[in-house]
Amino acid sequence: MNQYTAVKATLEARLEELTQRAADIESRLSDPGNADWEENATESEDDEVLSGVGSAAKKEMHEIKLALNLIESGQYGKCTACGGPIPKARLEALPFATTCIKCA
Ligand SMILES: [Zn+2]
Repeated sequence: MNQYTAVKATLEARLEELTQRAADIESRLSDPGNADWEENATESEDDEVLSGVGSAAKKEMHEIKLALNLIESGQYGKCTACGGPIPKARLEALPFATTCIKCA
């Protein structure tokens, strides 16, 4: 039993949530939009907000996948930059942290 089984479950649940959110955002962005140009103007502003949310979600998904890979390879909890240990408190606050506070 891996000591990070619980972390892995948390990360996988979070990844699932983000994947669904990203899919939802993408389907809303690909909506053809309203025929009324005034509504369209409002909608493109919304689209920009949604794109921002989408890229933040994608960045987090990428980080979570990295962390999951590290768990698989037994490297989780080690800083990917300096190789030093990542403090437990940091991993608890940020389960997908792949660097220590110094290297972050
Ligand atoms: Zn480091």
